[in-house]
Amino acid sequence: MTQPAHTSGLRAEVALDAHAEVAEGPVWDGEAGQVIWVDIPRGEIHRFDPTDGTDQVTQVGQPVGAVVLRERGGLLLAVRDGFAELADGQLRMIAEVESDRPENRMNDGKVDPAGRFWAGTMALDSALGAGTLYRLDTDRSVHTVLPGLTISNGIDWSPDATTMYFIDSTPGTVTAYDYDRQTGAINEPRTLIEIPPDDGMPDGMTVDSEGCLWVAIWGGSAVRRYAPDGTPLGAVALPATQVTSCTFGGPDLGDLYITTASEGLSAAERAGQPQAGALFCVRTEVVGREPHRCQV
Ligand code: CA
Repeated sequence: MTQPAHTSGLRAEVALDAHAEVAEGPVWDGEAGQVIWVDIPRGEIHRFDPTDGTDQVTQVGQPVGAVVLRERGGLLLAVRDGFAELADGQLRMIAEVESDRPENRMNDGKVDPAGRFWAGTMALDSALGAGTLYRLDTDRSVHTVLPGLTISNGIDWSPDATTMYFIDSTPGTVTAYDYDRQTGAINEPRTLIEIPPDDGMPDGMTVDSEGCLWVAIWGGSAVRRYAPDGTPLGAVALPATQVTSCTFGGPDLGDLYITTASEGLSAAERAGQPQAGALFCVRTEVVGREPHRCQV
């Protein structure tokens, strides 16, 4: 068996100097040749076209934690109030989540290999244990998967669709689960990676075609790459501390797009990292995978 390549000395460059508050959730739309991403607190969906540098913005009208592609076309969102669709620029709720809890909002999410939409919640003040991971099935039913989380965050699946990886940022852990593609059930949690608090917090992530994990480190100015067994393999350095998420894009899926945040930085910190909130990109030696499309 070939070992995954080590990745070192990579530096990401600005692709779009977006000045976002919290740029997040990048998704590569291969048909459009665009990176779709969100600015969570501003409730914005962005479509960045790397060929001409344009960035199209759609206002959603409430905070948006994640955007995913839909099999039949268009986009689905995890917004403050639950799962929703965006059709002709209009937001329509599909399933409300925690509508009795105004102190919470939906956060990161992604589509699984069978077309279900997974997304979790967190308290606006990051209260301990206030978050939950949910699963929207293709029949539009919503299932509670993991209660008692704090910041439900990055999620992805192994290329063979037998393992799910999930991040709760506050304990700083990436947990692996056995994943049943037929039912969507997850079992046998084991802590794969623990980020020491001094290094920052794991935020969003993506899994590449070799099955390795690329984990954005909030407060750590980096995206780190890990083997499927959790062994560190290298890192990408960024000139912004609050690194939020990443995904592979470009015609050959060899460009790693990375989102960052400027939220909460002091004036002095902003002066020291004027590109905080930008969308970054770095060419890598491995390629990513096409995102799954939601079957809802
Ligand atoms: Ca996040």
